[in-house]
Amino acid sequence: MPAETRLFTCLKDNYGVLLHDPSNGATAAIDAPEAAPIEAALKETGWRLTDILVTHHHGDHTGGIVDLKKRYACRVIAPRKEAQKIPGVDVTVREGDIVTVGTLVGRVIETPGHTSGHIAYWFKSEKLVFVGDTLFSIGCGRLLEGNPETMWQSLLKLRNLPADTQVYCGHEYTAANVHFALTIEPKNAALRSRAEEVVRLCSAGKPTIPTTIGAEKTANPFLRADLHSVASAVGLEGGPAVQVFATIRARKDKF
Ligand SMILES: [Zn+2]
Repeated sequence: MPAETRLFTCLKDNYGVLLHDPSNGATAAIDAPEAAPIEAALKETGWRLTDILVTHHHGDHTGGIVDLKKRYACRVIAPRKEAQKIPGVDVTVREGDIVTVGTLVGRVIETPGHTSGHIAYWFKSEKLVFVGDTLFSIGCGRLLEGNPETMWQSLLKLRNLPADTQVYCGHEYTAANVHFALTIEPKNAALRSRAEEVVRLCSAGKPTIPTTIGAEKTANPFLRADLHSVASAVGLEGGPAVQVFATIRARKDKF
């Protein structure tokens, strides 16, 4: 039976998401921004929380762990490099480790840059990846604990996943990201059609997530820093991709 997911908002603009294995009832929360919306989603679905898969240590991804663990005695999986900054950790993981949620099999991809130990969880058979604050739709995370080279390499790892992989990220930032991206690639047809789609979704009160790796490759400037046209757009024709990426990221920080 295919995995099921449930997406819902938490805090101001965070996303919570549940991953459910219908064959045995196991359910993971990807990050735990706060307990109440996760409990509400569990109640609505009738699912039982068995695991929390943490992407990174920030409070808006870990604030609900203690309460949820108390209530559900769930297992908490977290990046080894940040485990000391995350409460209630049971299992630490690093690059290439396998994480199971019931019979669903995920692989850990280390994606440092936003934080130094940030990880993503890739469920290959389910065509799902949970990327936390590394990749957003039409954007990427701020470089709070990493340099452009580190983040660019992390984004390349995600870009290399199959195009039909569905991407769940940690925040609803898409409308603002599209607004910025159009300053870099105003003529990109895929970006322009994504911009229209985002307006439609947002005005209907719907999430713009999940996106796909394939869609992001065509429209997200942060995944396109090695394209000649994008380098030219930021005045770095022939420049190295990482420098183009750093320039786009710096512009977005000030946008
Ligand atoms: Zn974060």
